Amino acid sequence: MSARQTRTISVGSVSIGGESPIALQSMAATRTQDVPATLRQVKILEQAGADLIRIAVDHKKDLEALKQIREQTESNLVVDLQENFQLAEDVGPYVQKFRYNPGHLHHRDRDHSIEQKVAWLAETAEKHDCAIRVGVNCGSIDPKMLERYPDDDEAALVASAVEHCNFLDKIGFTRFVVSLKDSDPNKVIAVNKRFAAERPDVPLHLGVTEAGMPPDGIIKTRVAFEQLLSRNIGDTVRVSLTVPFDDKGQEIDVAREIITDINEGRFRSVPVFEQKGLNIISCPSCSRVENEKFVELAQDVRELTRYAKEHNVTIAVMGCRVNGPGETDDADLGMWCAPTVVNLKKGEELIGTFGYDEILPRVKIELDQIIAEQ
Ligand code: SF4
Repeated sequence: MSARQTRTISVGSVSIGGESPIALQSMAATRTQDVPATLRQVKILEQAGADLIRIAVDHKKDLEALKQIREQTESNLVVDLQENFQLAEDVGPYVQKFRYNPGHLHHRDRDHSIEQKVAWLAETAEKHDCAIRVGVNCGSIDPKMLERYPDDDEAALVASAVEHCNFLDKIGFTRFVVSLKDSDPNKVIAVNKRFAAERPDVPLHLGVTEAGMPPDGIIKTRVAFEQLLSRNIGDTVRVSLTVPFDDKGQEIDVAREIITDINEGRFRSVPVFEQKGLNIISCPSCSRVENEKFVELAQDVRELTRYAKEHNVTIAVMGCRVNGPGETDDADLGMWCAPTVVNLKKGEELIGTFGYDEILPRVKIELDQIIAEQ
């Protein structure tokens, strides 16, 4: 691979972009307010060699926990602002980078334009010596871009990312990376190629969201990374796997293994990832998971549905209501966890909510019906 063309930015003790080694990221999946469990998770990721570790902060109560975690680790910490971009001011003193989603900026503070909100985020990052990730996602595209490109969500995603780069360029803020994610590795390849062609200077964070459980989640991620990193596209990576808390270090191990293989010319993918048969996507889980049975549920769904492996059906299993409803839209059957029940959707229609001990038989009924209709 020849040298990448992106600019280099610093994120705490790590450099991202240009000729820097590809930085490895992961995320603590524990409840942030459970400080001992989250610190344990941070240590597992540190031992695996994570360059950046994301901690979920959704509301003010998580801030006290973040502060305590900050005091007990030297790691570069990152927070995803999700739907509350105003948290940037509160998390800034404790992290090296925060991520905002261009698709979530319109919900709050309607008195200011998106461009003004971006300028405020950049100012806040500068004040606290933080970098920014502009993270666009197929499940939550800026509605304005969806209107502009009603039949082409890839174009909408790329246009949204480019628009935000332009906002940041205008105010002279350069310390940012961009990510364009989806659960379909082919889309991840396509949108990152399109973005890199338009903005070869901007460092890219690569990842396949809701890649699922190993080995499928690893295969999807490998296909995307091989196609992109071999073209010098990608400066930092996150492998998202649905695994128990204690195995989270696997995300870093897998990332390192894929990068080493690519550097040494060992490729396993063909240019297009052909999804044939049953496709189970599941989120990697994080502190927002609404019931700790989530990983077990994802594993049980996989076991239950093995009999349908020849059928072209996509089943999504998500840990919470933050991303669950939107990210399951493209699946034939979608589930997301609530504290005591699981929500079940068929296509975009909500079928209902079911107890954790009732959901599997219902999934089987719905799956059989989908197969019968095919
Ligand atoms: S779907 Fe919810 S629980 Fe799963 S990773 Fe996304 S935010 Fe976390």
